[in-house]
Amino acid sequence: MLYRTDTQAGPIGHAVAVLHRYANAMEPGQRRRDTTYTAPIGCVDLAAFDENGEPYEIHGCDYCLPWHAEVHIDDDGDVFIREWHAVECEAFEELVNISNRSSDS
Ligand SMILES: [Zn+2]
Repeated sequence: MLYRTDTQAGPIGHAVAVLHRYANAMEPGQRRRDTTYTAPIGCVDLAAFDENGEPYEIHGCDYCLPWHAEVHIDDDGDVFIREWHAVECEAFEELVNISNRSSDS
């Protein structure tokens, strides 16, 4: 047993309990993804506006800690958003797959 709730009440005990629950949710033999602040990061460029000129909303990543976004303007004056994630982030993998699919067509 990793913790005792009767002696570790409060934020630390709660954090340990959450981590313990997370570890138990993983399949046996499954490696935990590195999504910590020090994880290697990668980026994907996303359109800033839809086809009607409406801006896309930007929300922080629920799956990794190094997430941040930058606004870029390319040589043609097009504005895009560059999102940075941990390379092992689930959301990043999804975005890269979507990005690759749309650039193939
Ligand atoms: Zn992420």
